[in-house]
Amino acid sequence: MTDSSPVSSQPLARRGLMFILSSPSGTGKTTIAQKLLKQVDGIGMSVSVTTRAMRPGEIDGRDYHFVDQVTFDRMVENEEFLEWAKVFGNCYGTPKAQIKAGLKAGQDFLFDIDWQGTQQLYQRMETDVVRVFLLPPSISELEHRLRSRGTDSDEVIAARMDRARFEISHWDGYDYVVVNDDIGECYEKVLTILQAERMSRARQTGLVDFTRRLMN
Ligand code: ADP
Ligand code: 5GP
Repeated sequence: MTDSSPVSSQPLARRGLMFILSSPSGTGKTTIAQKLLKQVDGIGMSVSVTTRAMRPGEIDGRDYHFVDQVTFDRMVENEEFLEWAKVFGNCYGTPKAQIKAGLKAGQDFLFDIDWQGTQQLYQRMETDVVRVFLLPPSISELEHRLRSRGTDSDEVIAARMDRARFEISHWDGYDYVVVNDDIGECYEKVLTILQAERMSRARQTGLVDFTRRLMN
């Protein structure tokens, strides 16, 4: 008689991953990120620590952990950040403890950071990091998206277009590159990357036990 009962009815235990989405501003990174967060279980945004003032509508602990400069400096000294940077006069950092505990518990984190932050995270957490870069289908379409978003003045758009060329030049620092032409197709591709990376052997920490039971 053969035993057909499943060896495991639970999903296999796995280590979480750090899913980095970068792109030149205006490409569609926020749109894709929001869709992922809404539609996929087990992934949440990494919440950074910052010294900048809270904006209307922001919530402490959801958008950022808001701290004063003395607290931030002490956290830097105590090596509590995986990476940190000064942007437009304010400090921003990725807190180490929350990420490390989350990864161990199988939680995935989504990061919306530029290539410098990506490099720093990669240097610290190499095997946990998955780097995805989104590109616009053309420079004219990028400018069109920035204009149609309607959030920036002509001056800011010109600065973002200059910055975009610089960001694009770092395309080779990523594991995956996806052109965001059709938004639905782009989302499906990004989702496929996430799903495949979740199944990588090294991340499936429950496999040792599971395969042992399969063999016995
Ligand atoms: P980013 O976060 O990269 O700066 P956003 O997600 O804010 O970019 O997108 C910029 C603008 O382009 C938004 O108005 C968004 O609705 C639009 N957009 C995003 N992806 C596409 C796409 N594939 N086709 C057309 N418009 C898009
Ligand atoms: P804002 O103040 O508009 O929320 O963010 C300003 C900039 O800080 C953005 O470019 C954002 O990507 C960056 N930023 C936010 N959090 C972090 C972080 O933890 N580390 C780094 N390096 N940059 C961050």
